[in-house]
Amino acid sequence: MIDNYQRNINYLRISVTDRCNLRCVYCMPPEGVENTPHREILSLEEIARVVDAASDIGISKIRITGGEPLVRKNIVDLFESISANPQIKDISITTNGVLFADMAEDLKRAGLNRVNFSLDSLNPDIFRDITRRGKFDDVWRGIQKALELELHPVKLNVVAVRGVNDHEFADFARLTRELPLHVRFIELMPIGECNPWAVENFIAAEEILMKLQQGFGPLNTEVKVTGGGPAKYFSLPGAKGTIGFITAISQHFCAACNRLRLTANGQLRPCLYGQQEFDLKTPLREGADRQELAILIAKAIRYKPSQHHMEEGWTDRRVMSQIGG
Ligand code: SAM
Ligand code: SF4
Repeated sequence: MIDNYQRNINYLRISVTDRCNLRCVYCMPPEGVENTPHREILSLEEIARVVDAASDIGISKIRITGGEPLVRKNIVDLFESISANPQIKDISITTNGVLFADMAEDLKRAGLNRVNFSLDSLNPDIFRDITRRGKFDDVWRGIQKALELELHPVKLNVVAVRGVNDHEFADFARLTRELPLHVRFIELMPIGECNPWAVENFIAAEEILMKLQQGFGPLNTEVKVTGGGPAKYFSLPGAKGTIGFITAISQHFCAACNRLRLTANGQLRPCLYGQQEFDLKTPLREGADRQELAILIAKAIRYKPSQHHMEEGWTDRRVMSQIGG
């Protein structure tokens, strides 16, 4: 469906849980965030009903996220239901990768097309410090499995944090030479509790690109990656993979925004940074049919703002894991 600003809204990101097996420093406080009670979280069957209704008004791409989507019980069943809808052409997942390796084959069989891993350091100690509990080797095994199963393009999301992983940018770039991995540097967003810390440790994508070009020389710019979304991609000469930048802060990409978000508790959010939400859980539980749900989703699309106002600060009570990053 085309929105009020001539954008084709064809992409739905679904948070299937607000729970997580890690506690990344920029995402959650050490004790985690209070979990939404189970009865408030949409069931897998309710999520599938939303997808079917959304597909009737032009949603053709689905990303499953969270929290950590792979901690959700029976998550493979959701991929099966979504892939049974012929209007959905692309199903992807964003995961911290800890549980991925052992679930990968089932996920692929159930319809998963491609995967984004969040991995901020190639050093196991730094990785543990950032995630407060993760094991690097688990994630690396997941990445290798995704490559082996050809879940291309396999992307690595790297949140850039000054003083934490800024000495590793060249190592991430080097990875793309040998492996068909698409490394994407993400600007740290001042979301939730870590707000002042994020502002202090922010690194603009431009600075990362400049550092890489100082080390490697000019990067190729004529690069396209499937599901590229808001990232701008480059590559090292002769590399198998690519290097991308997601400039959520320094250069917003709202004019090309094609997405909606469904929170784990059934609220449709037209903009990540806008607090406006449309309740789908109540109508779902009151028996709304597919057409009625489609009408509600279309209404949310009509309310999608022309651009975000993150510069006004993050005043939301929710953090990223609750909205679905
Ligand atoms: N648990 C999964 C994972 O980590 O991939 C999916 C959910 S996580 C909220 C989705 C993405 O949001 C991750 O790539 C994470 O790095 C990113 N993220 C979380 N908080 C962020 C922040 N404050 N700034 C930038 N990216 C953030
Ligand atoms: Fe969990 Fe992902 Fe947030 Fe890390 S970024 S705490 S893995 S939801």
